[in-house]
Amino acid sequence: MDELAKKKQSEKKIMKKMSVVLSNCEKSVLAQLSCFCFLCVALVGLFFHLAMPPKVQITACDVGQGDAVLIQYGQSFVLIDTGPNSDILRCLQRNIFFLDPTIDLVILTHPDKDHIGGWESVVERYRISELATNGQSANPDHSSVSQTAETGAFVWWPGVIGRVVWSADSFAALHTSGESQEETNAQSVGTYWWGESFGFLSLGDLECEQELAVAGSGLLNRVSLLKVSHHGSKSSSCLEFLQKIDTETAFISVGEKNSYNHPEENVIFSLEKAGAVVYRTDIQGEITYQSHISGGWLVEYENGKE
Ligand SMILES: [Zn+2]
Repeated sequence: MDELAKKKQSEKKIMKKMSVVLSNCEKSVLAQLSCFCFLCVALVGLFFHLAMPPKVQITACDVGQGDAVLIQYGQSFVLIDTGPNSDILRCLQRNIFFLDPTIDLVILTHPDKDHIGGWESVVERYRISELATNGQSANPDHSSVSQTAETGAFVWWPGVIGRVVWSADSFAALHTSGESQEETNAQSVGTYWWGESFGFLSLGDLECEQELAVAGSGLLNRVSLLKVSHHGSKSSSCLEFLQKIDTETAFISVGEKNSYNHPEENVIFSLEKAGAVVYRTDIQGEITYQSHISGGWLVEYENGKE
């Protein structure tokens, strides 16, 4: 999780290799020339290693009707929701190196099946360092989450709007909802992730009223990518909110031919009116966004059903 420590470790390795090569440099002219070339390449490599920001990749997993978003920051992984069932594993296996099956943080936004149904399959196969939920236990699906104590993960229930709850260098998350036991969608844990060249807003199934509260909180900088709330339901993503955050790109995590008729046509219309390029998991399959140093996203998706 500590990117700075990892950088320092790899710098040490490079310096060690350089000193070994230098100790052999005085043997011949050819050796001296080779040493010079090696030093140039090593110094250029070191420069780029220090100058380049860690890789940021955001993957909208294709889990049908539900949410599961995997964020990679350098060597760290954060998973927001697990989708409705074990289909999430396909996405995790594709993106997380099998010899190190660790997820640094899992956020379960709220205890509805389409967000936490895959939890048990995830916890069976992956080590989870930290877990965040909204603390609701009214829904029976939530009971599986309480088994987490057995995994040894550190569990916490986020607090008020605006607190930084997890960070690695300049990459951090803000919690954005309350703690009522009454509602589920409206009490989703929302997070805003930002770095030097990107801002990603993911608000679970929050509705328009709470989305506007987030947009008006003064805590958001640029939003360059939005996970559309509640799978494109008409109760979320009102035009006023979308125009306030002014995102360039958005994705909807939604199942093909789902019984809710998500996403609503009006929501798609509002997103386009607000100037966002819209991607959908029911059409594109798994969608991957890689932050580019220019501030944009390199977008790849699994299939071309469009
Ligand atoms: Zn949902």
